[in-house]
Amino acid sequence: MIFSMTPLDKLIAHFEKFPGTGIRQARRFAFHILTLKPEQADELAGLVTSLKNSVVLCPSCYRYYSESGERQPLCSICRNPNRDRSKLLVVARDSDTEAIERSGVYDGLYFILGGTVSLLHNPKDEQRVRSGALLGCLTTRLKEDHLMEVILGFSVSPDGENTARFVENHLEPVLKGTAVSLTHLGRGLSTGSELEYADPETIKSALQSRTK
Ligand SMILES: [Zn+2]
Repeated sequence: MIFSMTPLDKLIAHFEKFPGTGIRQARRFAFHILTLKPEQADELAGLVTSLKNSVVLCPSCYRYYSESGERQPLCSICRNPNRDRSKLLVVARDSDTEAIERSGVYDGLYFILGGTVSLLHNPKDEQRVRSGALLGCLTTRLKEDHLMEVILGFSVSPDGENTARFVENHLEPVLKGTAVSLTHLGRGLSTGSELEYADPETIKSALQSRTK
């Protein structure tokens, strides 16, 4: 029935797919767009299009990064020679990486899983997250970078903990027999708190008190 949808219906359907957005909020967004001046609506449409062309996915850590000037093969974190390549922090989303970078206490590399695996067994979650790419990244790092530690940085919530278990099960066979330790973020993050909203002090404390 897609062909009978009006542009407004289609826009609402798009907004409804946004993280944490229900149908009522999606409608509110769409109707807000109707109130914009033509030039504002044009700017918004232009930004959506240009974002797709100017933001690229890093093939090493799977972080989205903006291109400015010359095209670089890797993101600024992966190609920074001052980052500690013996540490790999696995997080669910780009916004988690941003929160950790803002805290300024982590100097290793990242891997962005691309989502969480819900406690209610959902095979779609497992297909959606980049567990295969994580294994590839780990194998490369083991060969090239003298990897010493993989830190699982997920929110303290049932889904976060389930994701940590899922990732652990995936990594264990690869890490077995290597010197690499698998750690979790420690105290500081309160139950139910989302990593992306944690303040720098909390992130610092969670990183410093990580446990095996
Ligand atoms: Zn990268």
